[in-house]
Amino acid sequence: MKDLKHINYFEKLLEAADNELIREAINDGGVALGYTCYHVPEPIMNMGKGFSVRLRAPLTGSTSIASYYLSNFVCSYCRGILERAIEGGYNFLGGFLASETCSHMNRCSEHFEMLNLVENDKFFIDWLDVPKKISDFRIKKMTEQLKEKFLKPMSKNYNIDVSKEALIQSVKEHNEINDILRQISEFRKEDKPKITGTEFHTINLVAKVCPKHLIKNYLIETLEEIKHRIPDDKKYRARVVVVGSEIDNPEFIKLIEDQGALVVADRFCYGAYPEIEPIKLTTDDPFEDVVRHYIETCQCPRMMDGVKRREAYTLKLVNDFNADGIIYETMKFCDYWGYEKSTASHDMINKHNIPAVTIEREYTMSSAGQLRTRVQAFVESLEIKEIQKKGKVK
Ligand code: SF4
Ligand code: SF4
Repeated sequence: MKDLKHINYFEKLLEAADNELIREAINDGGVALGYTCYHVPEPIMNMGKGFSVRLRAPLTGSTSIASYYLSNFVCSYCRGILERAIEGGYNFLGGFLASETCSHMNRCSEHFEMLNLVENDKFFIDWLDVPKKISDFRIKKMTEQLKEKFLKPMSKNYNIDVSKEALIQSVKEHNEINDILRQISEFRKEDKPKITGTEFHTINLVAKVCPKHLIKNYLIETLEEIKHRIPDDKKYRARVVVVGSEIDNPEFIKLIEDQGALVVADRFCYGAYPEIEPIKLTTDDPFEDVVRHYIETCQCPRMMDGVKRREAYTLKLVNDFNADGIIYETMKFCDYWGYEKSTASHDMINKHNIPAVTIEREYTMSSAGQLRTRVQAFVESLEIKEIQKKGKVK
């Protein structure tokens, strides 16, 4: 297929945690607010002159200093983020909206604070205590906390507009951008998709890490271009859904696609599902509506009452995107996904007869050789299954 017009630019934007659109927004008076977890509602950060940046640590090499503070048994995503912070890579941040969602990230963000890693007198960091079960009471409590811990310093330190009207406007733009991403993602349902998983992941990532108002037109143009794109005749060996913990590097998706498996849907942190689902404002408190949306749509294994919900959600993706199998991936030492990947893959294979494989990886591409071999073997097994289904092999 012909290269997408903006794809090289998008790749360039992903080369650093900071990028030229972030700098442009800051020069225009914007305040960059960092976060790392789905449970922190993104539209909160995009009110008034605030803008959200989901933190990444691209091109991470050694994490030796972060490991000294956190230990080698903390997941390499958290170590990568802390290492980059120690190097001064997040000095552009006005605040870090952290969450008590996993103990590894807690340790990382606590060190952010203790080591005083951001050179900005107005910088603030606070933690949202996110419930592990869904109920009205828990959603109300989380909303109260969000107002106290995040909105107050946003308003006090930076004079950001944290009114209901500002949030309604932010949700509107959030839904518009996600609608564009949803339309782009829909092309992956076709027999001959007009977009690869690697391209989609790149586009989805720039939407997460760049100021929304500055990236929006690039996304609109890209959608229009894809509508008229002529797909390759190239036949992929299989179609897969990828499920699991943080992937914020298109190289990882490319590694899978280089083995012949097209990634048709991404149910991992930093992926599109459930992130691109529209937020509905239905009550007179849009803050509570937004919190409810994130708690109710969350597909993270830390939610204790969500096993069946997560199973149904993954099955729906497999069906909707006509996938042949599922790759469950997890970062080494991640407790939540470590457990979930074993039980969920077992159920997919044994209860639903859907091929699945589990892989453990590092945040960086350091174990690419092993991953390649594992994905290759899985793709071959999917092909054999397909041939058997067609009755060519008895
Ligand atoms: S896996 Fe769960 S706890 Fe970890 S970043 Fe994603 S949503 Fe947050
Ligand atoms: S990979 Fe697991 S341990 Fe690491 S931040 Fe995500 S949820 Fe936490």
